[in-house]
Amino acid sequence: DILMEKILQRRSWRMRNLQRSWQESPEGIKMLNSRRSLPAYMEKESLLSAIARNQVTIISGETGCGKTTQLPQYVLESEIESGRGAFCNIICTQPRRISAMTVAERVSTERGENLGETVGYKVRLEGMKGKNTHLLFCTSGILLRRLLVDRNLNGVTHVFVDEIHERGMNEDFLLIVLKDLLPRRRDLRLILMSATLNAEMFSNYFGGAPTIHIPGFTYPVRALFLEDILEKTGYKLTSFNQVDDYGQDKLWKTQRQLLPRKRKNQITTLVEDVLKNSNYETYSARARDSLASWTPDCIGFNLIEAVLCHICRKEGPGAVLVFMTGWDDISCLRDQLKAHPLLGDPNRILVLTCHGSMATSEQKLIFQKPPPNVRKIVLATNMAEASITINDVVFVVDCGKAKETTYDALNNTPCLLPSWISKASARQRRGRAGRVQPGECYHLYPKCVYDAFADYQLPELLRTPLNSLCLQIKSLQLGSITQFLSASMQPPEPLAVQNAVEFLKMISALDENENLTNLGRYLSMLPVDPKLGKMLIMGAVFRCFDPVLTVVSGLSARDPFLLPQDKKDLAGTAKSRFSAKDYSDHMALVRAYEGWKDADREGSAYEYCWRNFLSSQTLQAIHSFRKQFSFILRDAGLLETDASTCNSLSHNQSLVRAIICSGLFPGISSVVHREKSLSFKTMDDGQVLLYANSVNAKYQTIPYPWLVFGEKVKVNAVFIRDSTGVSDSMLILFGGALKKGEMAGHLKMLDGYIDFFMDPSLAECYWKLKEELNTIIQK
Ligand code: ADP
Ligand code: MG
Repeated sequence: DILMEKILQRRSWRMRNLQRSWQESPEGIKMLNSRRSLPAYMEKESLLSAIARNQVTIISGETGCGKTTQLPQYVLESEIESGRGAFCNIICTQPRRISAMTVAERVSTERGENLGETVGYKVRLEGMKGKNTHLLFCTSGILLRRLLVDRNLNGVTHVFVDEIHERGMNEDFLLIVLKDLLPRRRDLRLILMSATLNAEMFSNYFGGAPTIHIPGFTYPVRALFLEDILEKTGYKLTSFNQVDDYGQDKLWKTQRQLLPRKRKNQITTLVEDVLKNSNYETYSARARDSLASWTPDCIGFNLIEAVLCHICRKEGPGAVLVFMTGWDDISCLRDQLKAHPLLGDPNRILVLTCHGSMATSEQKLIFQKPPPNVRKIVLATNMAEASITINDVVFVVDCGKAKETTYDALNNTPCLLPSWISKASARQRRGRAGRVQPGECYHLYPKCVYDAFADYQLPELLRTPLNSLCLQIKSLQLGSITQFLSASMQPPEPLAVQNAVEFLKMISALDENENLTNLGRYLSMLPVDPKLGKMLIMGAVFRCFDPVLTVVSGLSARDPFLLPQDKKDLAGTAKSRFSAKDYSDHMALVRAYEGWKDADREGSAYEYCWRNFLSSQTLQAIHSFRKQFSFILRDAGLLETDASTCNSLSHNQSLVRAIICSGLFPGISSVVHREKSLSFKTMDDGQVLLYANSVNAKYQTIPYPWLVFGEKVKVNAVFIRDSTGVSDSMLILFGGALKKGEMAGHLKMLDGYIDFFMDPSLAECYWKLKEELNTIIQK
């Protein structure tokens, strides 16, 4: 130990020398000066002394004031300067992988180092850190995983949890776990960073921890609401039908469920009324209902285009940041703008996009200055709201909505709907326009709608199914799930917790007494939804690992089958070429992936993707997931080292189908044949619809009585995304837990299905099978 101490001491001295020589070099001095102009610098000393004196410190400050890039760096620098550099170990969490990566890169640059030296990052599937890394930026998920194997965070000296105001599930969860850890690690320092001023709530949660506010410098931003915009741009919102309504096109038209015309007119009238008389009180009763369904999406692309035109023609220079709800909409609008005489002119306008899964080269463009006399327009998701700062933005266009998942505990269904943002978000979006000079923000909704926004967004913990979270609570040995979650800042509904616990019991991850089973322990090691983890393990056990691995990796990534708005039919045909009449989106995915691998070997991967409407980026992600998952399984001893052994049954399609069924159960719907059409029913919800891009959506008959699906999502109706046809015997044999006790329970459940759906003649066959099964189980 003394020897170790000596080594670290020596390394600390070296770190100090390196740091000093950089800080005294001409570039270092330049960098230091620009860092000193950030508002965070003013609070450097008070921050360092607060951290020295308190176990928990809370810091708030406007986005861009230097929290993420500066504060962890101050701690690092001061430790190095005091000769303790090699003894400190700072972790800073980010809600999104892209911010962890860009920030780590930025901080390395500021220190005149390469990424992976003193400063590194780690996100799922990727990382850049070395043995001399003492400041690590990682996603909150990564820190949670680390806590699984290292409950006390041994060796870590400081933890920064960033963007806590977003109230993401991982951050909220981390805060409960860390709060629990603090008494055991008296020397650990916890620093919470938040963009908006709800610091008090966090301070109370941590027993009155001190808060420091970094006063920002932002220029004033003028807020224009819809009524002002219409006046300023001369755009006319005369009739709802004239307006192209992208939200409507996406959510309703494609599903052939057009909003009734009458309702449209009502909404149009209402919007006009509201615009004429923006006294919200008068309208509150009627408006609250109808406005909930009047989305800015309904006003749509044309209004955004008009606003952009107005800015480019009439306003001074400066970049424009447009907040939209999702990647689909962003790419749609980008394509529409391409055809525009002014906005599509690359000599005058540079249109860029900013979303969670963009490539690194694309990210860099966003920060760069455009060529002279070219205006930069960035179409972004609400990612640009807080975690990424584009400095030269002078104009913000805010659609007022963000796509967020909510969770309907009663129906146990996640819903994905663009919904109104909060006042805090709107303010945050507006603030993005005042970084370099006074700016303007175009809110595409009336002022009275803004007045009706909630103050803050609901925490994610209250908006999502809790399956993975509950499993993690158990594997972190945090005691009773209910008790643990009741210690969170805003505890979730008991019903949501109960649903999750019951689900985990059903897949045998927990036993009757809510204790973690062996299966549960393995599932908690896999960074996927527990049911997909189970599918993987089943694939390994039943020796059809490879295709199952692709299915699970595919379901963990986004859909690789692209669906460009203007080429939907072609894309659909391309996808169905992969389906070869096997009535399975999952099998189509396996074929597409394998084809891509073959093409890659021949050097024609790019062309292959282009021809088949596949996203090569997503296929690449699936490829990495496959590697990671099989590594974990092999490491856990669940996978034979010999690839051919674990794939000896991979060619057996029925088996693969059955394993898919075992993983996705109880996501199951019956196929009801009607004259010339099909309908689908789940046990609880009744009717569900298939996504238009599903291979199964094209058939008039399906020779399987059931479809299993990974996900049902409530949009306006309930939709199922990817599905696979399965037979009765697959469902009976694989559709539940394989353990004795649960099998009986599962069969009881199936009795319900039988009465509910099945053809009476099949019932007999079922009973016979069940008897056989029972004898097998008894043995
Ligand atoms: P906060 O976390 O408070 O929002 P940051 O620490 O992320 O602020 O950013 C501080 C400043 O550093 C911002 O003004 C931002 O423009 C600048 N900055 C951050 N990342 C980069 C980057 N990759 N390249 C250039 N400047 C950056
Ligand atoms: Mg930040």
